[in-house]
Amino acid sequence: MTLPFPSRRAPAFADVPDEKWNDWRWQLSHRLNSLEDIEKVIPLTESERKALGSSGLFRVDVTPYFISLIDPDDPDDPVRKQIIPTDREMAAFTAMMEDSLAEDRHSPVPGLVHRYPDRVLMLVTTQCASYCRYCTRARIVGDPAATFKRDEFDMQIDYLKRTPQVRDVLLSGGDPLVLAPKVLEELLTRLREIPHIEIVRIGSRVPVFMPMRVTDELCETLQRFHPLWLNIHVNHPNEITAELAEAADKLTRVGIPLGNQSVLLAGVNDNVHIQRKLVQDLVRIRVRPYYLYQCDLVEGAGHFRTPVAKGIEIMEGLRGHTSGFAVPQYIVDAPGGGGKIPVAPNYLLTMSDHKVVLRNYEGYITTYEEPTDYTPAMAAKYKGLKRPEPGQEGLTALLDGEKMFIKSEGFDEIHDRHGIQHRLKDESKWKPLGIGPGEEQEKE
Ligand SMILES: *Cc1c(COP(=O)(O)O)cnc(C)c1O
Repeated sequence: MTLPFPSRRAPAFADVPDEKWNDWRWQLSHRLNSLEDIEKVIPLTESERKALGSSGLFRVDVTPYFISLIDPDDPDDPVRKQIIPTDREMAAFTAMMEDSLAEDRHSPVPGLVHRYPDRVLMLVTTQCASYCRYCTRARIVGDPAATFKRDEFDMQIDYLKRTPQVRDVLLSGGDPLVLAPKVLEELLTRLREIPHIEIVRIGSRVPVFMPMRVTDELCETLQRFHPLWLNIHVNHPNEITAELAEAADKLTRVGIPLGNQSVLLAGVNDNVHIQRKLVQDLVRIRVRPYYLYQCDLVEGAGHFRTPVAKGIEIMEGLRGHTSGFAVPQYIVDAPGGGGKIPVAPNYLLTMSDHKVVLRNYEGYITTYEEPTDYTPAMAAKYKGLKRPEPGQEGLTALLDGEKMFIKSEGFDEIHDRHGIQHRLKDESKWKPLGIGPGEEQEKE
């Protein structure tokens, strides 16, 4: 079935022979980055001229293919806003941070972010095919001098070898698919030599910025490293073209499951109708919407931020209104390094003994009667089994009954009220009996 997605080329590139246009190396080496170049393709606004004429800006680069998706007559074009800087980038806002996700703090070795128990984020390059103005990693991305060196790569591999709890490695950057084919192949080969690494994932916007990079040869290479997953990054339906559809088709045919991670951006896709079209068009090209991110607190991206309420409203308009597998999870990546936190509308209204009251996407309110005689069947079999991350206490310890509460910093000092120690204050009175590590846990 032929899909109805367009193929565009700006008039400025009309004379480029097809074989060059369709060659990713040509696209890369003909990226536009100066005021003069960009102006030949789209008339610039005062704000854009000011930004492009200033220094100290986050790197600008855009492939001829991607800039062709912009409607030159629309200063509010959603593709334009993602890659052409405006002077609003120069505005500071109170909550902004250089490394808002505290990735560098969670890096045991440079470029490897180990935030979650069983998976790591591996930054393999600082280069991309084009640069998103709201880049969460603008602190390193785009700067060739910040890229990862040979000895750092060796340190990353070495850390992975001696950390058997890591079963999932997510390659990102920068964009792993701009690496020289040989370098990418070596990287994947070395990861595959580590037996405990079960899956490898690539996060890449290359299929979106430069779909011609997805050659038969690349697919041939990638499929040798299965199980391999790939997440792309599309924010607006206008980015879904005949070329992207073809790239996605090639990747899926070699067995690579495709997902999409998008960012909620003011003026680009902060509307439920746009988001519904986006996710529906994505599933047509067999890409499953994975995450919709709240925009991070990153320098230069303040004007892209929306209230979280906008994201909730969008999720409300997706769930139930369209195919379940077209609905992404809406995520706030916790500032300070708490990781990804899913946020969603509330469907659970209230509860009583053995009854929950729920509402559906239409506002229909129902009750679900719970069993009164339930005992978890597997409890005994799985009791005391090792957790993915030893030493991790928190909700799991509360749920497992090893702890009864979590106190914020300074809690005891405040509530002591600077009183004297006396017999009524005996700690044993509020230490619940039977709380504490069980025998199984201690044996670990
Ligand atoms: C996003 C991210 C991952 C992967 O998270 P998933 O929810 O498994 O997709 C892993 N490590 C870091 C540091 C991340 O930011």
